[in-house]
Amino acid sequence: MPESTVTTEPTTTAEGANPVSAPPALLESILPRLEIRQSFKGEYTAACPFCRVGELYVYVSPQAGFLCLNEHCKRTGSLEKLAYMLEALPRTDEVGQDAADLGWPEPPDKEAFYGLAGDFVRTIEPHSEADPVGLLGSFLVAFGNLVGRRAHAVAERDRHHTNLFVALVGETSKARKGSSWGQVRFSFEAMDPEWSERILSGLSTGEGLIWQVRDAVERDEPLRVKGKVTGRQQVMVDAGIEDKRLLVVESELASALKVISREGNTLSAVIRDAWDRGELRTLTKNSPARATGAHISILAHITREELRRYLQATEAANGFANRFLWLCVRRSKVLPEGGRLREVDFSSTSPSSALRCASLARRPARSSATRRRGASGRTSTRTSPRAGRDSSAR
Ligand SMILES: [Zn+2]
Repeated sequence: MPESTVTTEPTTTAEGANPVSAPPALLESILPRLEIRQSFKGEYTAACPFCRVGELYVYVSPQAGFLCLNEHCKRTGSLEKLAYMLEALPRTDEVGQDAADLGWPEPPDKEAFYGLAGDFVRTIEPHSEADPVGLLGSFLVAFGNLVGRRAHAVAERDRHHTNLFVALVGETSKARKGSSWGQVRFSFEAMDPEWSERILSGLSTGEGLIWQVRDAVERDEPLRVKGKVTGRQQVMVDAGIEDKRLLVVESELASALKVISREGNTLSAVIRDAWDRGELRTLTKNSPARATGAHISILAHITREELRRYLQATEAANGFANRFLWLCVRRSKVLPEGGRLREVDFSSTSPSSALRCASLARRPARSSATRRRGASGRTSTRTSPRAGRDSSAR
């Protein structure tokens, strides 16, 4: 750092309160911890280490202080405060020696925080210890699952649906993997309480996964009138699951990976089919359950060590690992008293309005199944007020 850019004269804080000095020692402790992008006449611009989406301005003269330009972050104060806040951030050695050796991945470009998902992250981030990348990944998984089977992109002859598999990789408690999901779940559940019933945890067998989204099973039986067979009839053996959305939140992906490595386990194959097409069945004789149009998303958590230990070469090679987005996460900040999320007014932010759009987007998809079932003379096991609204609107 050039000596000339540092002033030792007493200055005032950005808050304009008490005059403080910005001795080189303080700056020397601050600057190495920032990703400096530009410096000009005692003014430094860095990537904001707190929100990781905004630009942080550090002023050395005439006002010593800092300010983040991200309107949802807007962290500001004296250089002493900045030094203190930086001290509270986890250091590289806290994310494991291996991570330190390899270096932490570069944070995503700001384009990754585009649109609704970005608005959501910027709104929540100042009040959460969760990594913005974890918030973003969790949001995209939840949104993609809630939207359901109707939305898709077409690539050549294939339809790519919005069900994502995301694995958050980080240290157990320090990375706050859980809290990113907690924030996302809270926001989405409020919008679609029905969807919250489609969130399950625990992956153990392929059959178990299919069971959660299984098709109805009907059996062909003789129709008897006064003991005489007069024809055939279809008898509903199992109503199946009408809502084909399923979000699996697997807080211990390591245990699922261990299960997958056992011989004869169908989980890996079913998970791959769920990502590819959503047409699921196993070849096991005693589990005839099958599922069509399944919309399964996975949000998983694992530590780096577990991932290296349990992800077998076969799963890396057969495309299981390819179907996951692996995101490195760590605690973004320390909030000893928690955030002030309750004070945030969500009604005026775009997340809430766009979340309502998501709810509208998925409506027609699920009513087609209801309509078919209604036409065959069997009423659905669960008629919701929403399903009623759908048919009347048509
Ligand atoms: Zn910031």
